[in-house]
Amino acid sequence: MNAYPIHQVLKQFFGYDSFRLNQEAIINRVLSGKDVMAIMPTGGGKSICYQVPAVLSDGLTVVISPLIALMKDQVDALHANGIKAAFLNSTLSLQEQNTIIAAVRNKEIKLLYLAPERLMSNNMQFMNFLATVQCSLFAIDEAHCISQWGHDFRPEYLGLAALKARFPQVPVIALTASADVITQRDIVDKLQLSNPEIFISSFNRANINYYIQPKQKVFEQITQYLQGHKDDSGIIYTLSRANTESIAEKLREAGYSASHYHAGMSNDERSRVQESFLRDNTKIIVATIAFGMGIDKPNVRFVMHYDVPKNMEGYYQETGRAGRDGLPGDAILYYSRGDINKLMRFVTVENNNAQTAILKKKLWQMKEFAEHEGCRRQYMLQYFGEDAPAYCGSCDYCLSNLEHKTATIEAQKILSAVIRTGQKYGADYLIDFLRGSSSSKIVPAHKELKTYGVGKDLKKEEWQSIVKQMLQQRLVDVDDSSYSVLKLNDASNKILKGLQEVVLLIRKPKEESVSAQAAPQHDPKLLTELKEIRREIAEAENVPAYIIVGDNTLIDMATYLPLTHDGLRRISGFGDYKVNKYGPAFLKVLQSYASGNNLESRIHLKSPKRERAERTEKPVASATHKATLALFNEGYNVEEIAIKRNLSQGTIEAHLSIFIASGELNAAKLLAKNKLDTIIALIKQTGFTNVLKPLKDLLPEEYTYGDIKIAQAHYEWVKDS
Ligand code: ADP
Ligand code: ZN
Repeated sequence: MNAYPIHQVLKQFFGYDSFRLNQEAIINRVLSGKDVMAIMPTGGGKSICYQVPAVLSDGLTVVISPLIALMKDQVDALHANGIKAAFLNSTLSLQEQNTIIAAVRNKEIKLLYLAPERLMSNNMQFMNFLATVQCSLFAIDEAHCISQWGHDFRPEYLGLAALKARFPQVPVIALTASADVITQRDIVDKLQLSNPEIFISSFNRANINYYIQPKQKVFEQITQYLQGHKDDSGIIYTLSRANTESIAEKLREAGYSASHYHAGMSNDERSRVQESFLRDNTKIIVATIAFGMGIDKPNVRFVMHYDVPKNMEGYYQETGRAGRDGLPGDAILYYSRGDINKLMRFVTVENNNAQTAILKKKLWQMKEFAEHEGCRRQYMLQYFGEDAPAYCGSCDYCLSNLEHKTATIEAQKILSAVIRTGQKYGADYLIDFLRGSSSSKIVPAHKELKTYGVGKDLKKEEWQSIVKQMLQQRLVDVDDSSYSVLKLNDASNKILKGLQEVVLLIRKPKEESVSAQAAPQHDPKLLTELKEIRREIAEAENVPAYIIVGDNTLIDMATYLPLTHDGLRRISGFGDYKVNKYGPAFLKVLQSYASGNNLESRIHLKSPKRERAERTEKPVASATHKATLALFNEGYNVEEIAIKRNLSQGTIEAHLSIFIASGELNAAKLLAKNKLDTIIALIKQTGFTNVLKPLKDLLPEEYTYGDIKIAQAHYEWVKDS
């Protein structure tokens, strides 16, 4: 087997330097004629998995997709890469369809996109036609549509079982972003895949930052964010149709380019709005969840939830529309518990208690997520059955300042409130009780109790956070028969007796955590010019701008300023076809910008990057580092070396860390074993391999920054060896 051609195809036709996780293995498996099921999150790169084999195979690749709107897009994108493709659906005239059929017959087409119903129509006429041409692969996109267990069942998909029966020799690749295991099994079963290999990619969308903010003056909160993101495309989800209209209007009044979208609009109106968004003419869409299915726009930079979604599946899917191009995207949920309570009253499926219970539970889990005292990403991934570290570094929780605080007294107050009121109440009641609420909801007899009002010193939100964390640490339980009644457990009793300390994390939000995003080092003025020329080309070709090249490709150009065809070839997203077709237009802009501003190309600075690689370069030891090491080896300690060399202790520790990371110096010479072990365990748990402050905050006082630096260097060494 030669592994070379598929890389060549990737570079030459798609302009990418390397495969993403699983893509290569999937493609090799498909090319060896075997069945495959690929489970990847939205934006994970499913299309490449059948498009590369399609280019490499002699015969036709048939792609089944339920979304007619998407087909045209995919075909346009393939054409822009110089790959022959077509789609057949009801939007084409009979004559157009005949032309395509003829082209398929003449082997002029590599990929053919179809809706499932087409395949089965007219007494299998189309299947019979396929039997007369050489098919090399069937790709079933959105394969979860075949399962009743999935969230988007489409009966037309059931007919696809016939494919395997009719064409047992032709491999099938089923693709889906559905994380649900029952659905996955059902897909294999219904499609009758033979001995399929199943590839599951992580559902982590590393380039999306997750933020949950208390919903206060939500419109102001939104415009405040938008001020820092003037050029960005985004979607704002709200639950009511009327809201989509009024928010979009208010945004327009405030000077933003915004439209609304909901299922009550006419088809024409809806496609007009959608098209305008795809072409970057409208920047912001305010929509109900009707918007998004089949929207493949890669450069959506933010997704906001004006109202809380009804379940985690919806939240994940909707936020997943941000950052499909791999560039950073923000997901912001404006949360209020009142919204949950409102929704809770509406989630009932008439005459179906079981279904109602499921929906209520899902809404409850949404609430748990929004109020979770911990990493958002971890909660979400665990919800979908995936392991994840406790810190991601890019959600509102991980970005806030965390501080350990002893809260034994507060915990005791809560627990005695639980006891005094007879273990019959939920957190909300207990907190009102502790804070001495005069509300008539408080049972009069409770107002006579000693504990009534002893918690006035803290705000409601602070008490809520304390209860949450106590639940998470199992310091108090929830009664099984209800979602909310608090009950004591063994740990609670120990705390009440003063036998157990309670340590909680107190978080203080950092300023501007939402808008702080390190921008890539590109020239913004040049980027604007490149966007403009892209818009012109797209308009002339009548396709959305991103079909020409993606934003990341433009940013790459604005960073490295390629001035020749060869230079362009090194820009991610520029395959041979695009270099030839669009290269001259972009080069003209680049060259005139370079000469006008007296700039030289920086393309030599660009190394072919591994896709999504995150490794940092190791620092190289220089003479000054070696001088420090020499003194250390002579027996001087850090403090002494710092005095001798007139450098700070921190600098000396940094010098020594280099040798620890390379294995030349043993960390045990500088740091006691128990301390080293503690820090290493925390690094593993948190993933903080190169930031100090968050670890310092999580460790007891006596651990210094120097200790942490040394442990991180040690971790670097053991990780690699
Ligand atoms: P999915 O269908 O899984 O939602 P797509 O196939 O549309 O995702 O891919 C998402 C984006 O990632 C597209 O812009 C695609 O061109 C890009 N992409 C896919 N594979 C790679 C790769 N190996 N290197 C760089 N970009 C890639
Ligand atoms: Zn996080």
